[in-house]
Amino acid sequence: MLTRALVDPEAIERNTALLLRAAGGAALMAVVKANGFGHGAVEVARAAVAGGASWLGVTSAAEARELRAAGIRAPILMWLWAPDDVPDLADVDVSVSSAEALEALARIGRPVSVHLKADTGLSRGGATAAEWPHLLTVAAKLQAAGFITVRGIWSHLANAENPDDPALHRQLIAFGHARAEAAAAGIVDPLIHLANSAAALHLPPARFDLVRAGIALYGVEPVPGRVFGLRPAMTLESTVILTKRVGPGTGVSYGHDHVADRETTLALVPAGYADGVPRRVAGRAEVLIHGRRRPIVGRIAMDQVVVDAGDLPVRAGDRAVLFGPGDAGEPTVAEWADWAGTNPHEILTGIGPRVPRCPRPGGAC
Ligand SMILES: *Cc1c(COP(=O)(O)O)cnc(C)c1O
Repeated sequence: MLTRALVDPEAIERNTALLLRAAGGAALMAVVKANGFGHGAVEVARAAVAGGASWLGVTSAAEARELRAAGIRAPILMWLWAPDDVPDLADVDVSVSSAEALEALARIGRPVSVHLKADTGLSRGGATAAEWPHLLTVAAKLQAAGFITVRGIWSHLANAENPDDPALHRQLIAFGHARAEAAAAGIVDPLIHLANSAAALHLPPARFDLVRAGIALYGVEPVPGRVFGLRPAMTLESTVILTKRVGPGTGVSYGHDHVADRETTLALVPAGYADGVPRRVAGRAEVLIHGRRRPIVGRIAMDQVVVDAGDLPVRAGDRAVLFGPGDAGEPTVAEWADWAGTNPHEILTGIGPRVPRCPRPGGAC
């Protein structure tokens, strides 16, 4: 394959173990939504479990089914579903944010394991503080009747990266109230979880019983300015398929946004925005060719980019690394995110479906 994403399961396993050590006794849920942040959900889940993860987190029923079909047995929590389309998934826990959703689950006719979600300030999923007591009353009633089991109480942070944000402390306090009310409503010994990657690493009061790690699992440092020693798990690379020598004044790619200012070698790399190279990185992004960083020049096309290789002896067949762990000087996904004005999550999950995910090293794909 010309453009491929090499995925390093050992990096994911080691990142999981590092997160577990840092989380000071909390268990770890590996968040493998969106095809394992673009890395391949099944492979990531296996590596994370090997590294000590005891839960898996997904958003949709289809994602949960993919893991079970691959024979993965770890407990799974699934958190996005609609009450008028109840996911009938034996052996998968579901998140519940409303009494309406609880009543819908009770109609399945077999006991469902649920994690009640409190909105402590993100204003996305979860029941608000005003709705929470009613949700607890309905949950306690349906649990007593044998329709559900409340396995967890959880919430999600709005700005875990920034420990100085007062909103973070308001969320911790709100979560404390939500837990106390659950205990008073007779919800006994639920699994308590709040932290994402950043909170797991640098916010001890958010850790509780379980931390939910996404981006850190994939080796991206989640706290600005801090290095915990995570290792990027994906290398996105391609193959030069054509080179040409051009003279000064040569316009390059659509619209001629770039014009060569000297004689140079242009190298054609078959990866474009359909593969996840954002158009916005034009004029900023670099790739590693022949051990050197060289700029992508001109507009990013759907299927290809042009690299200004200068006077490097680049040939068709040479490797071009878009991003990786950085060991050989190649850019990292964090740099790509900066160039694109986004976060690494969007770069990783934006890698297109035609890019095969290959086991490293040298796996066939
Ligand atoms: C995506 C997600 C996570 C993982 O967050 P990271 O910042 O990538 O660690 C955790 N919890 C929930 C609810 C999520 O949606």
